[in-house]
Amino acid sequence: METTLILLKPDTVERGFIGQVITRLEQKGLKISGLKMMQLSDELVTEHYDFLADKPFFPNIKAYMMRTPVVAIAASGANAIATVRMLTGATNPQEALPGSIRGDFGLTIDGNIIHASDSAETAEIELKRFFGGSDVFEYSRGFDGVL
Ligand code: ATP
Ligand code: MG
Repeated sequence: METTLILLKPDTVERGFIGQVITRLEQKGLKISGLKMMQLSDELVTEHYDFLADKPFFPNIKAYMMRTPVVAIAASGANAIATVRMLTGATNPQEALPGSIRGDFGLTIDGNIIHASDSAETAEIELKRFFGGSDVFEYSRGFDGVL
């Protein structure tokens, strides 16, 4: 079973879609292992999107990610990392297919609703970054999608 890191970005919080996005994760069968609201600092956003630091839109990303609090989620399940990326859809909501979270809730790249870890390596780093190795819980729901 894998665990991945998800952020519900400020536009999701502002537009009142926290519940609808979490519902999609739960209805897919993923387990919520950690859940918290956080106001991101300049330092944390810079670390998280470090690979975009030289892009012209980086100041916009920083302003976006710090505009209101985000909701950080640790979600667990079989193949959780790739599964959540699939549910999330393409980076740009204009290209994300209907049925995906970005395809259904987002309009432009400047408000793309959700972040999801893109590999096992990244998930491990990001879970530490946002949950600091604590507040991620292991509990049984009986059936987690794998017999
Ligand atoms: P995320 O990491 O947020 O899950 P992603 O993995 O689909 O998104 P990345 O290439 O990692 O895409 O980009 C990180 C974030 O940077 C995007 O989600 C988006 O908010 C922002 N971003 C990426 N490309 C652009 C762009 N061309 N213009 C504006 N913002 C962008
Ligand atoms: Mg990414």
